[in-house]
Amino acid sequence: MKTMTCMQLGGACNEKFQANSVEDIAELSKAHGMEMFQKQDANHLEAMSKMSELMKQPQEMQNWFAAKKKEFDSLAED
Ligand SMILES: [Zn+2]
Repeated sequence: MKTMTCMQLGGACNEKFQANSVEDIAELSKAHGMEMFQKQDANHLEAMSKMSELMKQPQEMQNWFAAKKKEFDSLAED
């Protein structure tokens, strides 16, 4: 398992997520983002609006994801 924070995954807090792949950790961060969205947390709303801008540009999104994958791969196992 490896650990990344909400902040490292484009979010807005230091919540930690643990997973075996970058895809899984992205899912965890997404679920957490949805929860924060429902709570109308201002910092997460801002982070999410930036992410949704990014998602409108598939190439940018791909670059972002590739960078996160690299970051994830370079982390030490817990
Ligand atoms: Zn968060």
